[in-house]
Amino acid sequence: MFFNERIETMSRGNLNDLIEERIQYTVKYANEHSPFYKKWFNEHGITISDIRTHEDLKELPIISGKTIREHQPPESSDFEFRSVDWREIFTLHETSGTSGTPKAFFLSWQDWERYAEKYARSFVSQGFGPGDKVVVCASYGMNVGANTMTLAAREVGMTIIPIGKCTFPSRIIRNYQPTGIVGSVFKLVGLARQLKNDHISPPESSIKRLVVGGESFAEESRAYLAELWGCDVYNTYGSTEGTMCGECTDMSGLHVPEDVVHLDLYDPQLKNFVHDGECGRIVLTTLLPVGEKCGTLLLNYDTEDTTAVVTREQCGCGRTHMKILNPQRESETFWIAETPFNRVDVERGVFQRENMEYLTGEYEAFLYGGDDEGETIMRVSVECLDREMCDRKVVEENFLRTFFKYKPFLEEAYAEGMFKIVFNFASLRDLELNRIKGRPKRLVDRR
Ligand SMILES: [Zn+2]
Repeated sequence: MFFNERIETMSRGNLNDLIEERIQYTVKYANEHSPFYKKWFNEHGITISDIRTHEDLKELPIISGKTIREHQPPESSDFEFRSVDWREIFTLHETSGTSGTPKAFFLSWQDWERYAEKYARSFVSQGFGPGDKVVVCASYGMNVGANTMTLAAREVGMTIIPIGKCTFPSRIIRNYQPTGIVGSVFKLVGLARQLKNDHISPPESSIKRLVVGGESFAEESRAYLAELWGCDVYNTYGSTEGTMCGECTDMSGLHVPEDVVHLDLYDPQLKNFVHDGECGRIVLTTLLPVGEKCGTLLLNYDTEDTTAVVTREQCGCGRTHMKILNPQRESETFWIAETPFNRVDVERGVFQRENMEYLTGEYEAFLYGGDDEGETIMRVSVECLDREMCDRKVVEENFLRTFFKYKPFLEEAYAEGMFKIVFNFASLRDLELNRIKGRPKRLVDRR
């Protein structure tokens, strides 16, 4: 089943032609409507008609959240990335990111329609259709995700139950018999536990599929979630800037809606593209269909997330749009002993199946400098179902075995005592992240 069959199954050749047509129109649009780009093209003597293919995008600057903040008040007198008249701005959003200073992001109604189509395609590719009832746990408000999914539901013919947070009474499941839930891994694990306490078995409930998004996760946590709920768990990746990639029933990567958003993957120096299959930084470019408008136009926007292209060949589901691995946040990647590791690596160690007999899945980790020069300590706190009954040795062994699996230098540093891992077994609700508002930080560098 497809939402937009002609586009989603377009041959690679035709898709590339469409992308080039839209790159050309988008760059022209930027020159006419975005104060930032107009000035940049001028100052750098760029001839707009020379930018024709995605290779040509390398001639343009790579921008980041920092660039946007530097070109909006108070740094600048106006919002230089706003690329349509105020009268055509339907909503405006602030995204804070890691630095804390919010950046403004403008959406026209056409942006909303394009965003909604991306989610509609994703929902249909996951088997959702008319008659489905979906509980959206993602928060409404400045985040566009929940609203976009709600808008997408209208196109797909689904009913949305806009809870907006992940705690809700079991009555919602019992009375309305929803067929899907959109939420985060941790909240859905917690929800399954709550339902069991209320004598509802999640696998026997009306839920047929779960959609997780908003952050990367370990395959192990997905597998555990699928087991708890007895159904498939699909992954989505989205951002205010308009990525929105979704996993289909083939579960072999996330399809990128290539006709409306262009993703290039760059090396760490942001100089060259990496080859398919290699890990790189996601740099996105809005692609506008000819004649359409856009509230905030971004060319070569560094998302600070990393992924790899799985394939550009046709998928088992019939779609031809390329697939990427579950993206990871660069800000959650740290280096020790010349080895990078991500929060997801820590999560993988926690979510080993045997550990889940003792743990809730909630965890947090902190990096500290040690007493000796160059020494690093990682303190891993895990939340226990019952602190007294927890088999600590089992949890520690499972964690270390998986954490070091592909990291020989890190393991060597551990053996030599330059890298220490200290475990802390916490009681229910006793992790630090329970005391902090907002998105939990699960791996924090305190060196
Ligand atoms: Zn597919």
